[in-house]
Amino acid sequence: MKHLNQVLLHPNNRVGADLDAWLAQAGGKGLQAALQDPSSLVGLIEKAGLRGLGGSGFPVHVKWAAVAAQKASRDKYLICNGNEDEPGTFKDRVLLEETPHQVIEGATIAALATGINRIVFYINPDLENCLETMRRAVAQWKGSDLAKRTAAVLDKPLEYRVVPSSGHYIGGEETAAIESVEGKFPFPRGKPPYPAEYGVHGHPTLINNMETLANVTHIVRNGAEWFRNQGIGEASGTKIFCLSGDVLKPGPYELPMGTPLKDLIYKYGGGVLLGKELKAVFTGGPSNTILTPKDLDVPLDFDSVRERRSSLGTGAMIVISEGTGIVKRVSEYVDFFAHSSCGQCPPCKTGTYYISQLLGKIDTGQGRQADLESLVNLCEILPGSGRCHLLDGAVKVLESSLYHFMDEYKQALKT
Ligand code: SF4
Repeated sequence: MKHLNQVLLHPNNRVGADLDAWLAQAGGKGLQAALQDPSSLVGLIEKAGLRGLGGSGFPVHVKWAAVAAQKASRDKYLICNGNEDEPGTFKDRVLLEETPHQVIEGATIAALATGINRIVFYINPDLENCLETMRRAVAQWKGSDLAKRTAAVLDKPLEYRVVPSSGHYIGGEETAAIESVEGKFPFPRGKPPYPAEYGVHGHPTLINNMETLANVTHIVRNGAEWFRNQGIGEASGTKIFCLSGDVLKPGPYELPMGTPLKDLIYKYGGGVLLGKELKAVFTGGPSNTILTPKDLDVPLDFDSVRERRSSLGTGAMIVISEGTGIVKRVSEYVDFFAHSSCGQCPPCKTGTYYISQLLGKIDTGQGRQADLESLVNLCEILPGSGRCHLLDGAVKVLESSLYHFMDEYKQALKT
C-alpha cells in the first residue's frame, strides 16, 4: 500500500534546520554509502531512473555524466535550483523549509559523483523563510562530521553558498540561473555551449532542481530497485504534486509517480469545490497544454502526460471547475508571461504583449472575429522563435484553450 508523503515529505524528514534530528532518522546514511564508492554513483542514478523534477523530466544521470567527464582540474559548480516562481508551483519551498538537510545531503552526493567543488543553493528571495532555514542548515552542515569525512575523501572541503535568485520567473531557466549566480540579470543564454561545458564563470556546471536532489540521498541509501518500486508501472520514484485551484483540499501531495490524475483530484484532493464538474486542468503549471475531463485517467508521469501532448512540468495541477471562464484565466497567465519576458527575443516580447492585448479585448467583450483570427495565426508563427521556453509555453496554453474552448472565445466576442 502506497501512502501520501511517503519519502521526501515523510513526517520523520520534516525536522527543519535541525541536523541532529535529521541524523537521528537515518539522515547521513546515503552520504556515508556514497563516500565508499563515488565512482558508482552516476550508474546508480541511471539504474534508478531519476529524472529532472523541476519540469524537464530529463534523465539526471546524463547531466551528471556530462559534468563528471569535464577535466578534474577545473572548478565545477552545482546550482541547486530553488527559483520556483511559476504560478501554481509550491513544492521546493516545502522541502527547503522543512527538510533542508535532505537537499544538502543530496547535493553533496551529486558533487561527489561529478567532481564538483562549489555548491550553490539558488533560492527565490520572496521565500524568506526558505533562505533563512537553508542558511542555518548549511552552517550546521559545514561544521558537521559528515562534511569533514567528505573533505577527507576529496582532499579538500566542499564550498557551500546560499544565494538569492533574481526573483524573476525566467531566473529558473538553467542558463539564466548561471547568469544570476554570476551577479548579472538572468538573461537566458543561447545553447550550445551547454552548462556542463561552460557554466558559471565558464566552468562546468550542473543544475538540478531541489526536489531532484532531495531524492538522491534516498536512492543511495535504499538502492535503485527500491526507488523504481516507489513509482507505478514504468515510472520511478515519487513526485510532489502541487494541487491548487477549484479543489476541496489543495496542497502539496507526494504520491507515486504515475498516480492517475483522477486519484490526485478526487481521492486525495477531495474533488472539485462545491461538487461542481471538472472543466479543465492546467497541467504542469500554466505553460503547457490543458488537460480536460477525458484525460482523468492519465497516469501522472513524464511519458504518459507527454503522450497526451502535455507535460508533467513541475507537477503543478491547477484545477478549473465548470462555470470558470477560460478566456479570463488564460488572459491572466499570458499577462504573467508578457511581464516575465526578458525582451531578448523580439518575437517573445512583442508576441506575448500582443496576445495579452487581444485576450484582454476578448475577455472584456470588446474583441472582434479578426482578433480571434489573429490569436490563431500567432499560435502558428510564434513557436520556436524564442531562446527559452517562455514564449512556447505562453503559446501552448493559448493554443490548447482555443482548441478545447473555441465556443467560449466566440461567445465572448462583441456582436
Ligand atoms: Fe527572454 Fe522570451 Fe527570449 Fe526567453 S524567449 S530569452 S524570456 S525574450
